[in-house]
Amino acid sequence: MMMNSTWGIIATWRMAFDGINAATTRLQREESAETAVIEAVKMVEDYPFYKSVGYGGLPNEEGVVELDAAFMHGTTMAVGAVASIQDIANPIMLAQRLSQERFNSFMVGEGAKAWALANGFEQKTMLTERAQQHYEKKCRETIDQGLSPYSGHDTVGICAVDLKGDICVGTSTSGLFMKRPGRVGDSPLSGSGFYADSDVGAATATGLGEDLMKGCVSYEIVRRMGEGMSPQQAAESTVNDLEAKLIKRYGRAGDLSVVCINKSGDFGAATNIDNFSFSVATAKHEPTIYICRREGKQTKYEVASPEWLDAYQARITAPIV
Ligand code: ASP
Repeated sequence: MMMNSTWGIIATWRMAFDGINAATTRLQREESAETAVIEAVKMVEDYPFYKSVGYGGLPNEEGVVELDAAFMHGTTMAVGAVASIQDIANPIMLAQRLSQERFNSFMVGEGAKAWALANGFEQKTMLTERAQQHYEKKCRETIDQGLSPYSGHDTVGICAVDLKGDICVGTSTSGLFMKRPGRVGDSPLSGSGFYADSDVGAATATGLGEDLMKGCVSYEIVRRMGEGMSPQQAAESTVNDLEAKLIKRYGRAGDLSVVCINKSGDFGAATNIDNFSFSVATAKHEPTIYICRREGKQTKYEVASPEWLDAYQARITAPIV
């Protein structure tokens, strides 16, 4: 029985667009938000040229790929997450499976891997030759030119509303490039990297996890939507307020980018950087990639141009020199 007259799905970054397209068909066919999110995240995890998620994700400072992922169902409030997991093919599937556990639903490192293998999850070497080349290059640059090792990170975060009114969110990332072994960001942390409540909506974040988690941004956006803000107001005010507070109290703020959707399928996006992209499709809005820029305290977005899309594809597949 349908209990909602609409559907919608929104994701951080251009990398989610193919998954959003596939999810559109699913959601139109009355498939669940859970399936739409999981399948869309899996597509990003499996694509070797997306270097900050899943297979092909960038390694830590010792050259080891450690992945974080989470899933939340906004109706049952089930949450499952994994952090610092090595060589499991689809961390998002593991997170989804863990969300069904009454206990032990957030697992890390060796324990998470052992449990995944014992429960039939696929083992896969997640370090690709290309990611290894990126790593070697970064080691050279960091040592020779004194560059910050921590540039080069992005998380796929996807929020979906289905025709039954269920709202779900999933995240997956390799976290900060050159992070210390064992470092975990916001992406697997409920309330920070993601949050969903089927009475209201869902939100997810990408950027510097160390700063995003200082504001529990995803929970805060959903809370503000619940109090009556539009998704755009909730996203923008949350990013602006956290950025201002961080600058005042802490002296600086890292990259903070968010997307969100409410149960009516209205969406919002906000960022404090200039090249944040997001992918979205709703019953009223065809699948689209937007590029954000900041004007004062407002986030403006425009449809990605064919030139932008071509340049993007060329960049992610270019030889590493
Ligand atoms: N938020 C992620 C982390 O800190 C990285 C990103 O989204 O860029 O692990």
